[in-house]
Amino acid sequence: MPQRQTYTSVALEQAARPLLQLVQHLTGLDTTFLTRIDWKALTQQVVLVEGQQAIPVQEGAEVSWSDSMCRLLFDAQLEQSDAVPALFPDSGGAALGMQSFFALPVLSEGKTIGTLCGTSTEAVVISEHTFISLKLIADALAYQMALDQQMQLQHKKAKVAEKTIDKLYQQAQQMENLAHTDELTGLDNRRAFQTKFEQYQLQSETQGTALALMMIDIDEFKQLNDQHGHETGDLALQQLGSVLAAVARQSDIACRLGGDEFVLAATDTTAEGLLHLAERVQQQFKQQMQQSGLVSSLSIGIASTVDSPLDQLLQRADQALYKAKELGRNRVEFAD
Ligand code: GH3
Ligand code: MG
Repeated sequence: MPQRQTYTSVALEQAARPLLQLVQHLTGLDTTFLTRIDWKALTQQVVLVEGQQAIPVQEGAEVSWSDSMCRLLFDAQLEQSDAVPALFPDSGGAALGMQSFFALPVLSEGKTIGTLCGTSTEAVVISEHTFISLKLIADALAYQMALDQQMQLQHKKAKVAEKTIDKLYQQAQQMENLAHTDELTGLDNRRAFQTKFEQYQLQSETQGTALALMMIDIDEFKQLNDQHGHETGDLALQQLGSVLAAVARQSDIACRLGGDEFVLAATDTTAEGLLHLAERVQQQFKQQMQQSGLVSSLSIGIASTVDSPLDQLLQRADQALYKAKELGRNRVEFAD
């Protein structure tokens, strides 16, 4: 079942409904209602209706202030009329079948924030004495409506604050990601590598797990940049990044240390295990570059905790890489 749409808060509805019923009781009118006026938009909205609905006044209905029955009455300096069709023949009220109509401003700090209204298909005259009671009821409603507006404003502010906090949180996360990510390739950067590698070392020390890593460097990269431009060079770096991301297991660290130098570190892997992986990296990189119409290769140096002290693993892989370069590039070498 669709939920009934409401145009007031529960608190205002609970306070205002009995008061509208009281107005009905005091005046003998079929229908009583409460409206809210938006002076910026120059509109008036019916927020609550009590009565038989002999006159179809709907909760949520909105009229422009220029078409408002209340405005017609106030402009005529009246509080009520028991001859709406005669007095206001072209009005919306007359069209809806109103014979009698009264309206009192609902005032908050001297400003009209809404109206208390009543209407009937019959000619009903409200006494001066009853009007005194209606004004007191309008005052009680004014307090409730002002409170309701305050609450809605606070609610809106809280929502804005919530959104701002969400945005700031997202920005902080983006900053955090940027601080650990190499922008060009999306791989970990040197800082993230250092943090993760220290954890790997600790784990290797305490649990005795083997640790192996490969240092990868593009051959003659300067030449590629010079011949094809810096953008092509960037493309090569991105392609190597995507090859490493694809071959790396969840537990590996794939990182761009800087320039054209990359590292892939893995636990529980022997140097021989890494050799196969290194050859796959070389092959896939070469193929991808060929698909872009380029010729390029990789030199790779490998070191593992089986033959190198843990704290010298990076230097040993770097030495192995140097050896690969010395021996003519496009090759994989182990640390001596
Ligand atoms: P080698 O085979 O000995 O490695 O020769 P190489 O030309 O590759 O020499 P090296 O590794 O020292 O060259 C690194 C070059 O990488 C130098 C620099 O201009 C280029 N480079 C560094 N960062 C970037 C980058 O972000 N984008 C591009 N396109 N080039 C970069
Ligand atoms: Mg290089």
